[in-house]
Amino acid sequence: MTMNDDLPIFDGHNDALQSIYRPKNETPRPFFERTDQGHTDLPRMREGGYGGGFFAVFVPSGTPDDGFPGADPKSDQAAYDLPMPPAIELATAQSVTMKAVACLLQLEARSDGQIKVIRTAGELVDSLHRQKIAMVLHFEGAEAIDTELNALHVFYQAGLRSLGLAWSRPNDFAHGVPFRFPGSPDTGPGLSDAGRSLVKTCNRLGILVDLAHINEKGFWNAAEISEAPLVVTHAGVHALCPSTRNLTDKQLDAVGETGGVIGINFHVGFLRKDGLLDPETPLSRIADHVDYVAQRIGIEHVALGSDFDGAVMPLELGDVSGMPKIISLLRKKGYDHDALCKVTHQNWIRVLEQTWVK
Ligand SMILES: [Zn+2]
Repeated sequence: MTMNDDLPIFDGHNDALQSIYRPKNETPRPFFERTDQGHTDLPRMREGGYGGGFFAVFVPSGTPDDGFPGADPKSDQAAYDLPMPPAIELATAQSVTMKAVACLLQLEARSDGQIKVIRTAGELVDSLHRQKIAMVLHFEGAEAIDTELNALHVFYQAGLRSLGLAWSRPNDFAHGVPFRFPGSPDTGPGLSDAGRSLVKTCNRLGILVDLAHINEKGFWNAAEISEAPLVVTHAGVHALCPSTRNLTDKQLDAVGETGGVIGINFHVGFLRKDGLLDPETPLSRIADHVDYVAQRIGIEHVALGSDFDGAVMPLELGDVSGMPKIISLLRKKGYDHDALCKVTHQNWIRVLEQTWVK
């Protein structure tokens, strides 16, 4: 790897799978060769010192509005309130998900040992050491799981180790937040009974419960029930950018108290005080969110959750090959080697060790 051999970056959220399995049947993007499409491919991961992360399976809503949440930088209208996409049918979600999981397993099989689908914390540590790309199978929303949880057991055996209770729409278990700015994440009802038993079953199986995208009532319900550290794989700080997708101080404190972790999202619309969808957003805004969480709840509880291939990145960063710029920025701000180890991978390893035990 490049300049950060001993600081492999393990990422809380990457949406590259979607561009490869193509839920809408567009031409798949190459992954093993370097292109300038999207944010992630194997050569660019190597260039950026990117050790892997949570690779999301996402079921598109099928609504025409596929834009990225944020206020138009060319207008002076800073506020937005996007409609909540409708719930998804189980059969639709399962067929897309089956395709996506197969895609991940085939990537591993075709990678000539360069990619490892991670099922235990030991495998994660080992892969980061040996510079294999570590991919954790993550579902961004529980739409592919039936309320009897049969599919949860099946997908667990296929490699599922992280489950977001909701994306930004309702499902049988939980309600996500609509994309709104400015706005509070307290946007609707909490977990259903099925949602509560989903959390308990994930705890028992050793599947991480991700609280990104969920509304505040659902967050607090999950916090009450869950026996694992609270984790938000990709989000920001509400006090720095009052989007519904960001966490209030009270939520940050709860994550800290349980020994959990927050992956700071790089989506420009969730970084800025004014909520603008502005690619000129400086990288220092990402560092601001890292600083805020580190100062409020401790360096043990902050990590990175880029949202590569699912969000608008700062131009200064570009794509995954630009990750060393974030490391050197943090280093300049006074983060020493020990702190950088925690933010880049150690915090994730600790939380996964505690969550995946069984
Ligand atoms: Zn997301």
